[in-house]
Amino acid sequence: MQVRNGIPVSPGVVVGPALVLGTENFRIPQKYVRRDAVEAELARFRSALEQVCSEIESNEVLVADKLGTEYAAIFSAHLQMARDPRMLGEVEHLIRERSYAPEYAVSRFLRQHAEQMQNLGDKYLAERALDIFDLEKRLLGCLLGESREELSSLTAPVVILAHDLTPSETAQLNTEFVLGFATEVGGHTSHTAILAGALGIPAVVGLGRCLASISGSETVILDGDHGQVLIDPDEGSIANFRTSEAHNLKIHERLLSLEDLQAETPDGERIHIYGNIEFPTEVEQCVKRGAEGVGLYRTEFLYLGGRVEPSEDDHYQAYCRVIEACGDRPVVIRTMDIGADKIPQRLQERFDETHNPMLGLRSIRLSLQSTPVFKIQLRALLRAAVKGNVRIMFPLVATLLEFRQAKMILMDVMEDLEDEGIEYKHDIPVGMMVEVPSAVMLVEEFAQEVDFFSIGTNDLIQYTLACDRSDPSVASLYRAGDPAILRLIRMVLTAAKKHNRPVTVCGQMSSDVRFVPLLLGLGLRHLSATPHSIPRLKEVVRHVSILDAERIADHACSFDLARDVEHYLLGELGRLCPDLVV
Ligand code: PEP
Ligand code: MG
Repeated sequence: MQVRNGIPVSPGVVVGPALVLGTENFRIPQKYVRRDAVEAELARFRSALEQVCSEIESNEVLVADKLGTEYAAIFSAHLQMARDPRMLGEVEHLIRERSYAPEYAVSRFLRQHAEQMQNLGDKYLAERALDIFDLEKRLLGCLLGESREELSSLTAPVVILAHDLTPSETAQLNTEFVLGFATEVGGHTSHTAILAGALGIPAVVGLGRCLASISGSETVILDGDHGQVLIDPDEGSIANFRTSEAHNLKIHERLLSLEDLQAETPDGERIHIYGNIEFPTEVEQCVKRGAEGVGLYRTEFLYLGGRVEPSEDDHYQAYCRVIEACGDRPVVIRTMDIGADKIPQRLQERFDETHNPMLGLRSIRLSLQSTPVFKIQLRALLRAAVKGNVRIMFPLVATLLEFRQAKMILMDVMEDLEDEGIEYKHDIPVGMMVEVPSAVMLVEEFAQEVDFFSIGTNDLIQYTLACDRSDPSVASLYRAGDPAILRLIRMVLTAAKKHNRPVTVCGQMSSDVRFVPLLLGLGLRHLSATPHSIPRLKEVVRHVSILDAERIADHACSFDLARDVEHYLLGELGRLCPDLVV
């Protein structure tokens, strides 16, 4: 049994056969071949290798002609690797002696080789491992050819193990067959992780390099509650899995009964819980789980899937679906938050040169530089807004000027609609995300211009602690319980109260039950969370009085280390709701 620990990002424990996605997410369909087919498979491998070598040779000539021989040298190195007799010998050995399918043999040999290079501690050699992955990709492309299986064509349940999944790939996972997934990279609040929660797929990210030693047919237990992945589990672990499955089912059933109850503290304070959504279809889940509306609609997912820019009508239809499904419940529509890890494929080239995409052209900055595209979204939004209780929110606002510019464009769009005689919502509330420390520093000034605030802790943590939210190597720094984060939240709540502006927390922090007493104690009354977490949040709200919450918040704010804050909050949660701490 192999045990891998990562970051738990979407709850639930599942067991099933592993499906390992290779580089480029090729699926390796079978691990073994019949003994009588070994010769034919060897021939298939040699012919694929020949084809790859001649492709590399053509590339070498092409590049030498266009760019010069120094650039073509990259391909000479690839060719040398492909022609390496050791590789030929070892892959043939795996096919002949172990009856491995050529795809599996190639992937196994090259990945182990790449892993060794990466572990030598030499930066140059570690980078050469990328060449090996490139060769693997070419060989698999050749071997699998037309029969390459797509994730969309799954016909049986699997647990996906991949190096990485992009948010668009995750969005397209077939929830009927994908029991759960785990990735080598990724962080707690990466958009892939958020989507896993939205789709209700248990997930663990940031496992570190481990795929080389997994072939793709082993049984896997994936524990999305604790961030553990067991490969080829022993009998004891399977028995434990069955016990915790039964326990989880019991809690789940009890929490279902909370769906129709109010989120009210024992001392009678109403707390408002909304859902975060990425797709219109998720509204149903929000409402079913007892959300009072949608606190964050991440509209950028309209741009991520398709091959072309969404039209005004695409936007309009999507917004109308959300608004109509919500009835008179509030809906906060956030304008496009594209950039960083959310880049539509058709715009990829434009962002390829960006050295530091998290600090680059993303979110409202991109909208302000792409006014025609931004205006299309705003037109649709204002038109759809007449159908319900809609608010508009701008993401990643760092300066007052950005907010003012965005609002001016909104006014422009209103004037256009007025001139064209098109019905639109005139008095739409306009708010902003607080997810950059500069916005917190100027929160008093912002409070005089915005109708509401929504604290995006996912980005606020990353920009305050200077650590990439998707990078598992800095995951221990990236913590919602950091005293700096508590202080920033307190600053926003204090200023907003003074200016009578509502505040919501819509980052993942508000989906994490440990933080509920703290946030209520700091004065927060509106939370927007991943739909699946809503029943648990209600459970905590119904067990903590405001007086108790204030005491917890005061005590939590007295620590100077994130781990002490989080440890203390976990203890308090265990006291309030022991079932939720397993
Ligand atoms: C956030 O940053 O907390 C947030 C809610 O926005 P996103 O996760 O979409 O960046
Ligand atoms: Mg954000």
